[in-house]
Amino acid sequence: GYQRVLEENRKLYNQVQDLKGNIRVYCRVRPQFGAQLNSLSCVDNIDDRTITVLAPTKNGKEGRKSFTFNKIFSPSATQAEVFSDTQPLIRSVLDGFNVCIFAYGQTGSGKTHTMSGPKELTEEGLGVNYRALGDLFELSNQRKETISYEISVQMLEIYNEQVKDLLATDSVTKRYPLYLTYVYLECYISQSGINVPDANLVRVSSTSDVINLMNLGQKNRTVFSTAMNDRSSRSHSCLTVHVQGKDLTSGNVLHASMHLVDLAGSERVDKSEVTGDRLKEAQHINKSLAALGDVIASLASKSSHVPYRNSKLTQLLQDSLGGQAKTLMFVHIAPEYEAHGETLSTLKFAERVATVELGAAKANKDGAEVKELKDQIASLKAALAAAK
Ligand code: ADP
Ligand code: MG
Repeated sequence: GYQRVLEENRKLYNQVQDLKGNIRVYCRVRPQFGAQLNSLSCVDNIDDRTITVLAPTKNGKEGRKSFTFNKIFSPSATQAEVFSDTQPLIRSVLDGFNVCIFAYGQTGSGKTHTMSGPKELTEEGLGVNYRALGDLFELSNQRKETISYEISVQMLEIYNEQVKDLLATDSVTKRYPLYLTYVYLECYISQSGINVPDANLVRVSSTSDVINLMNLGQKNRTVFSTAMNDRSSRSHSCLTVHVQGKDLTSGNVLHASMHLVDLAGSERVDKSEVTGDRLKEAQHINKSLAALGDVIASLASKSSHVPYRNSKLTQLLQDSLGGQAKTLMFVHIAPEYEAHGETLSTLKFAERVATVELGAAKANKDGAEVKELKDQIASLKAALAAAK
């Protein structure tokens, strides 16, 4: 039963997903507001897959540049529409695929809106994070006769290359940065997928559990940021969903994880104008976003070395960026004309990511295979020890 369910689902996902690769790029254009409502926009034209932006040339002449992605969401796209194109990817985590969804773009372009929603949350306003978990609860409930799922979450913040636990409840974990386990062995990743072992891991089973946790995370974020207004735009925040599924017939257990990442603002900072803490922050952000681009580029070129260890962000996402995992980047565009420089550089970053073609995604190895690999490692270690 279980194997068949897996196979059928996998077939379905493969039909739905673009077969060419495991990295998808969706572009979302934010609406213009208030005074800017009727002003000139740097977005010249949008269709389902192509966006054209105004890109003035150096000598002041007007230019245009087009970019093609898997999907473009116009300013009128609703949260529900955005989610419905993301749902198949999210559902695949229950079949053992690791998934990573991240929101990229300059501050104010709509990253938090897509992932969490507007400040005053309404039912229609709920972002991808809430809808994703709600959907996983529903689907796991539908399968409860054959598979018993446990869903747990962690919430982390990366600020200046330090990882903090947003679900910390005691003053010690609130204060100190956490360590990441460095994962070298693929089977080890598949085994648990937990690479921040000291961060709180909280079991969730309903949307209200999730809302409570998000509120705690938000509160901690505010506590962490007392010294600075809007630290949130200068740190990455990551909601990680860990799934464990036990086949009730065979007893096999699968593990998979999904990272939902609201990245720090991608805007370039004028180095001549910033100093001190602000400069340090900017350098950390540039470094980690560049590391993300480099990791994806080296996966694309099938380089034997993938530089995951160049930033905390890529270390954290390591098991969700690569041949076995499915990745989706939401690229956010602020449509105001003044933003055209940032818009262009955002689209260029996205274009570099979008050209990636990876092999077909594979589900994580199940318990039996992991055990076999572990046994192999143990016997190799024994052989090594004996040889010394
Ligand atoms: P970021 O997280 O990239 O800094 P936000 O998500 O905070 O940007 O968005 C900036 C402002 O624009 C917020 O007030 C947000 O509610 C609003 N906003 C962003 N995207 C949309 C959208 N698609 N529809 C309506 N309002 C949006
Ligand atoms: Mg934000």
